[in-house]
Amino acid sequence: MPLTLYNTLTRRVEPFEPIAAPLVTLYSCGPTVYNYAHIGNFRTFLFVDLLRRWLEASGYNVFHIMNLTDVDDRLIRTAADRGVGIDELVIPYIDAFFEDRDYLKIVPAHAYPRATGFIEPMVRLVSQLLFNGTAYRSDDGSVYFSIDRFPAYGRLSQLDKRELRTGASGRISDDEYGKDNAQDFVLWKAARPEDEKAGAAWDAPFGRGRPGWHLECSAMALEMIGHRYGGKVLDIHTGGVDLIFPHHEDEIAQSCAYTGEALFARYWLHGEFLNIRGSKMSKRFGNVTTPRDLRQDGIEAAAIRLLVFQTHYRQQLDLTDEGLTAAREGARRLGEFADRFEGAAQGKGGPDSPWTGPAARLEADFRAALDDDLNAPRGVGAVFDFAREANRLLDDGVAPTAAAKAAWDLADRVLAVAHRAQARAEIAASADDADRSELDSDPPTDPVARLRWGTRWASRRAAAKRTRDFQAADGIRARLTSHQFEIRDRRDGSAELVDRRA
Ligand SMILES: [Zn+2]
Repeated sequence: MPLTLYNTLTRRVEPFEPIAAPLVTLYSCGPTVYNYAHIGNFRTFLFVDLLRRWLEASGYNVFHIMNLTDVDDRLIRTAADRGVGIDELVIPYIDAFFEDRDYLKIVPAHAYPRATGFIEPMVRLVSQLLFNGTAYRSDDGSVYFSIDRFPAYGRLSQLDKRELRTGASGRISDDEYGKDNAQDFVLWKAARPEDEKAGAAWDAPFGRGRPGWHLECSAMALEMIGHRYGGKVLDIHTGGVDLIFPHHEDEIAQSCAYTGEALFARYWLHGEFLNIRGSKMSKRFGNVTTPRDLRQDGIEAAAIRLLVFQTHYRQQLDLTDEGLTAAREGARRLGEFADRFEGAAQGKGGPDSPWTGPAARLEADFRAALDDDLNAPRGVGAVFDFAREANRLLDDGVAPTAAAKAAWDLADRVLAVAHRAQARAEIAASADDADRSELDSDPPTDPVARLRWGTRWASRRAAAKRTRDFQAADGIRARLTSHQFEIRDRRDGSAELVDRRA
């Protein structure tokens, strides 16, 4: 059975056929780096990780791009509040994002383009849209996309024009400078004094300004696949379900109006929400858990991966304490099995070996599950079934066959949900090293390294508060204050770090 994937564009599970197999171009909307990405964002990134690993295990040659949004309204506001430029604001959060990615054992993308590094292709894209009449300049110097000039608008989100109007006016109030039509979206925003101050304004033939959020993804994706492969259409585009409208709808409109192609991506895959104890996970609701919180609580990456993969990516996932405890137990059991199984010497074992059945079942069930629109919960079930049968054979002293080793290796490589004893020792050692070398000394003088130092202390303070160790939290605050950092607690439980020296 070939790989099948649910395509939001057609609302169907379809056989996966890339444009130029075995090459697969994959673009994933990444984080906006003015804060720590929360575990809800990382659920989406883990789903992408599963997709990426399964494509590669299936023999595809994947080129994976994930963007980092380092210029947008909220980011500029945050930079202004802290009195820093956008570059200084984002660098510690980009570092933190990569740390969290590595902690969760997410395979790195091949490219992490930053929006501010791709202004030229964005200007080229907007110029072309102005030239072919799908974009227009408003009185204040901003440039908008005219959705009336793009008949396919709304195809991905399947909203009719009336619904689009409500959605558009509710969502993007920041962008309303002077549009012809309430549904039109901004491609390029005329520069304001606060943009100049934050270093977020660039020259363009149509006026000085900065890119709109939607524009970033189209320009970077097209530039990178065009430059590398001469392509104009992505094989797969991923994101969270909250990005279907307007973000992905707008990406399609401007990309297709630019390239003249009917599609921007052939397959659109969307991951569902993560809820924390029932309420939707979002910074806006003040219900924030980040991977670094979980790491500081000593939670194993394998347990988080197991918890996430036990629910299909198109179903909402509730993160509860009980669920996490069960996942930790499961990851530990699989880790113990992995240590034992991988340590066992391989036997010759012909087709009549008692390993033949379990190995063939794992291989077949795992492949069938993942080929069925990445059905990881079923894949996880096959892994636990195998571990149970295999433990019995190991108890009986029967040496595993090469086929059994290979079947386990495939599942383990794709899921990475077994927490081995070795990993536990490494985690403990590396956490100790990082603490001692970086945090116990005074902050570095370089402003970016200094901010990173302050940010690390602030997250330790957050961890202390969560475990109700208020004495430690107060001690950290005093230490930060003595180095001219101010920490402002918000009502939602999060805290903002301000560098007084900057
Ligand atoms: Zn995007």
